[in-house]
Amino acid sequence: MSREELVVQRARKAFQTGKTKPLELVTERKKEIADSLKKDLGKSERCTELFETLGCEGEIRLALQHLSDWAAPRPVEKTLMTLVDQAYVQPQPLGLVLIIGAWNYPWAVTLQPLVGAIAAGNAAIIKPSEVSSHSARAMEELLPLYLDTDLYPVVTGGVSETQELLRQRWDHVFYTGSSSVGRLVMEAAAAHLTPVTLELGGKSPCYIHSDCNIRVAARYGPFVNCGQTCISPDYVLCEPSVQSRLLEEVRECIKEFYTENPKGFEDYGRIINQRHFRRIMGLMEGSTVALGGDCDEADCYIGPTVLKDVSADSKVMKEEIFGPVLPIISVSGVDQAIQFISDREKPLVIYVFTEDKKIIQRMIADTSSGALLANDCLVHFTVSTLPFGGVGHSGMGCYKGKHTFDQLSHLRSCLIKSSSLESVNSLRYPPHTQRKINWLRLLLLKQIDLKKLRRFTMITALMGLTAFIVQVTVPLFIRLGNPHWLILCNYTL
Ligand code: NAD
Repeated sequence: MSREELVVQRARKAFQTGKTKPLELVTERKKEIADSLKKDLGKSERCTELFETLGCEGEIRLALQHLSDWAAPRPVEKTLMTLVDQAYVQPQPLGLVLIIGAWNYPWAVTLQPLVGAIAAGNAAIIKPSEVSSHSARAMEELLPLYLDTDLYPVVTGGVSETQELLRQRWDHVFYTGSSSVGRLVMEAAAAHLTPVTLELGGKSPCYIHSDCNIRVAARYGPFVNCGQTCISPDYVLCEPSVQSRLLEEVRECIKEFYTENPKGFEDYGRIINQRHFRRIMGLMEGSTVALGGDCDEADCYIGPTVLKDVSADSKVMKEEIFGPVLPIISVSGVDQAIQFISDREKPLVIYVFTEDKKIIQRMIADTSSGALLANDCLVHFTVSTLPFGGVGHSGMGCYKGKHTFDQLSHLRSCLIKSSSLESVNSLRYPPHTQRKINWLRLLLLKQIDLKKLRRFTMITALMGLTAFIVQVTVPLFIRLGNPHWLILCNYTL
């Protein structure tokens, strides 16, 4: 039996015993986490806190605060046929979840799904990316200090270890990474009919309309974590007149954010490895560098770079850039921008900068993407009530807050009927007469909105109570004969 098979078996057994502990890792181990990310991606301690641990902490706090609500039975609307029955959704643990993480935010993309997996009562095996090797090692060392090692083991290793894990039977696979590996994950999961969540990437466009505050538009997104962010704006679409204004503002913004020398500035990181360094540099071939372009292969450094007048069929438009390079493509306006976006795979997010609400609404109505964010970049990931995930080639399924809990739960339908209503049941038994069907039409097609019904009952009860008070108190006050009481009574009611 392989090591992976053994781990799976042990975790499943541990899960069956029902031991599930809360997570208390990120607040106490910030230093070790930051050290690992400094080595992997040159991230500063503050960037680590802002982009990795803060989000994990938020997810944990949210789960602790709302877990009893999330896990509680969820009553559903009923028909007249089931009015006196209990109908509800009961979330249940799926069982054993495999979480495969990516290297760009190795802690956030691994621990955030794990929080939901634990909250939902699952056992989970965590497979951090081998590419961010220091973070993977730190995770392997730290997690066992905080979590039950039978329930939440960390398995490190590369492609062959991941493939071996994927051959095992799981109750859910939660994968974060590229679309090409996403296909392999889904293929492997299909062998066991295992559901998957695929948090993938792709080219997320950013349309900058001429009426927007260009200074604001220039300040967001593309160089965070050196562009190695799944929701990084991958390219800009704008009118030619916007391009020159944008370039000026981005130039100023780079200086303001990362100084004249980003290479020596602690809040500007590094490309994960030389393979990716060469890939990103290769993507720029044939395009005109308008800003930046400086690099150092030995140090995995690529400065914040903007490419201008990029053509739609250039190399940089062929794949997700995943680096600090922002191409600008000219379009004639919003119509062409929408056409450009719709001609391509559905992105993880579409950004739009404009003061015109109609343009925002058009983007929402005429395009499709995992998310749409207007007049800002990246921050939708911080809103735990918004489901985070892709559509089409940018992924399937979603997570964050309750969405992770739901994604990693089985939402079981429960209908508890009373056996005393056989007269109603008999309407569906043979012989099927037209009269019975007419009754069934009424009983089945009439939805009862429980909330409205409850509100109606409460209002009726309140009205009854008011009438009762008036009936009892007014004659009493009249008998007392004191007009001040009457005024007070009038005022109160
Ligand atoms: P990666 O190379 O670290 O791969 C991710 C995981 O897949 C790793 O754990 C790795 O072991 C495993 N893997 C790699 N090759 C495999 C194979 N052939 N068979 C089985 N498993 C394999 O990460 P990556 O794919 O370079 O990640 C970058 C991509 O992830 C980008 O496209 C980015 O947009 C996307 N991403 C998406 C999100 C999101 O939340 N949607 C977050 C982060 C990254």
